[in-house]
Amino acid sequence: MNGVAFFLGVNFVIAVCFSAVFAVVATRSRSRRAALWLAAGFGVASLSALCELLIAYTAAPKVWAIGAFATVLIGMMLLRVGIGHLYGRRLDKRIAVFFVGASIILCYVIYDLPRGTPVQAFSYQSPFAVVLLDSAFVVLSSRGRQAIDRFLGMLMLFTGLHFLAKAGLAVLVGAGSVARDYIHTNYALISQSATAILVVAVGLTLLAALVLEIMADQRSESEKDTLSALANRRGFDRQVQSLLGEAPNGQHAVILCDLDHFKRINDTYGHHVGDLVIQAFGQLMNDSAPKRAALGRIGGEEFAIFLPDTEVGTALLFAQALRGATMTLPGLPDNLSVTASFGVSSLTTTDGLQEAYRQADLALYTAKNAGRNQVKLAGTSHSDKHDHRGGTRI
Ligand code: GH3
Ligand code: MG
Ligand code: MG
Repeated sequence: MNGVAFFLGVNFVIAVCFSAVFAVVATRSRSRRAALWLAAGFGVASLSALCELLIAYTAAPKVWAIGAFATVLIGMMLLRVGIGHLYGRRLDKRIAVFFVGASIILCYVIYDLPRGTPVQAFSYQSPFAVVLLDSAFVVLSSRGRQAIDRFLGMLMLFTGLHFLAKAGLAVLVGAGSVARDYIHTNYALISQSATAILVVAVGLTLLAALVLEIMADQRSESEKDTLSALANRRGFDRQVQSLLGEAPNGQHAVILCDLDHFKRINDTYGHHVGDLVIQAFGQLMNDSAPKRAALGRIGGEEFAIFLPDTEVGTALLFAQALRGATMTLPGLPDNLSVTASFGVSSLTTTDGLQEAYRQADLALYTAKNAGRNQVKLAGTSHSDKHDHRGGTRI
């Protein structure tokens, strides 16, 4: 076995392994279709190594030469389809089929041209470059790109250009006078090893992008409260830290909130209605809070709101509005009117966060002691003026 045959074997095993890994990742990923297209792409491309070997060692080199070209190009096109799914830019199937078909015909036509001439070399390599450069464009022009996506895009750009460089190299150093000789040339050795390295790099980066997506999904799941659809305590804390990081010296406000006599709601209407109340209150918070606010269900019927860059007076008004709207939560039994108590505090430095929570908690405690269904501001005796007690008290 010569060096090139060895590399072809390595390429084959690598591509098959990637195909299997993407198929496994598809079972866990939200981008299942993308992962399956990628698995198919690597699976089909792996066949090209077998075709390359058959060119050298069988009597019908032309068939296998075209087969090697076609399997690589189809594999790359399938990767492009997967990347289109992943980065939100679908490929028109008719264009893809036409492009692959035309390229295979071109490969057939140029087969008998002298190898290593510019026309032959660039006609052979350009279709690969086009698909890779298009994939790079899809990734680099997608919205919400992260470091891994930028890296993938640049890598594909480089890989696309490397096919053009291969054509240039074939012209300069020669790629064997006929297809059968290819496997014995230095060009083949360089070409196959460069491609092997880039295939591994592209495969690993795509894999990393999918795995990072799975990890991000799992983190966001682990930080979410399914009943209220708000963040849980862990998610809330992380959001607050991130908001504080954006404006460490800003003036922010904290609101703590606890549903009143919730135990009685459960006892009177059943646990299911209690759950509906939590759901409806979560929805109300989501609908009424400013976009940048962090919202969390931090206990059974306890909720927290962090309002970045917000004066305490504004936070007080918001809490009052929330308190008022709580009494008319939709989707609950007619004779049930829910109320909630609120404690509001402000903080100006990162160090003050725990103190701000403590102050808001004290204010909430004061609101409860003052008869519930009230908003209290930390460190004052201020409460909202309209202390409605309408609806059925339970
Ligand atoms: P207060 O006005 O003083 O806050 O009285 P409370 O009854 O609301 O407070 P307490 O802490 O005595 O009771 C809270 C109840 O909330 C007890 C618990 O069974 C109920 N609870 C906690 N989590 C859930 C939940 O997810 N669903 C339902 N239905 N009830 C819950
Ligand atoms: Mg309560
Ligand atoms: Mg409570």
